[in-house]
Amino acid sequence: MNTVEVIELSAQEVEIPPHAVRRYLGMGRHQPDDALQSLVEQCVEEFHRIARYRACRLVLPVQVEGERVDFGVFALSSRSLSKNLSGCRQAILFAATTGAEGERLLKRAAVTSPAKAAVLDAVGTAAVESFCDTLCHRWAEEYAPRSLRPRFSPGYGDVPLELQQTLLSCLDSSRKIGITLTRSLLMIPQKSVSAVVGIGTAGCETNLHDCQLCDKTDCPFRM
Ligand code: SF4
Repeated sequence: MNTVEVIELSAQEVEIPPHAVRRYLGMGRHQPDDALQSLVEQCVEEFHRIARYRACRLVLPVQVEGERVDFGVFALSSRSLSKNLSGCRQAILFAATTGAEGERLLKRAAVTSPAKAAVLDAVGTAAVESFCDTLCHRWAEEYAPRSLRPRFSPGYGDVPLELQQTLLSCLDSSRKIGITLTRSLLMIPQKSVSAVVGIGTAGCETNLHDCQLCDKTDCPFRM
């Protein structure tokens, strides 16, 4: 039987790269001035201290026929997801979060310092994406010589955001790691991700798992 596995990583196992924080701040390759650099460092340290990196995953068989993608426990029709999962016989469903304390830190900062809140928001996004990257690297090793596809979240391509409800329910995310969904489909804590990762005989050839940062423009799995 397929069971949901809960994974917890320590803060030392999840890097929050400054270049990713700058990217989520919309700074591109621009270097921050000293004051902003110091605020970024302070926010990274504070966020790291209170973040709780937890995830749950469920490995399911998957069948792709035309645009229909069938995970056994649920199925949907999607051109984008069927392309992402073509040739896969299994897929990992997962949800990951940086925890409720990070959410509280963000809310406190929003009241006391909008500048700090903006930086913390970027730090939180960089943290949860980096956490997902770390998980995917580990799973890529676990499933070698098979390859993982780039992770695919509800809302990408033609997959509706509503798929989040199905993923989180299959993962029992509320009970296992405290991720809930509002009526407007916002995950709480907000620095959370839900996604599907296909396991195929061919897949992503880099450790990036972010096609926007990858220069392999002819990759068949590019998203
Ligand atoms: S474009 Fe790059 S990052 Fe995206 S799936 Fe292909 S190899 Fe991986």
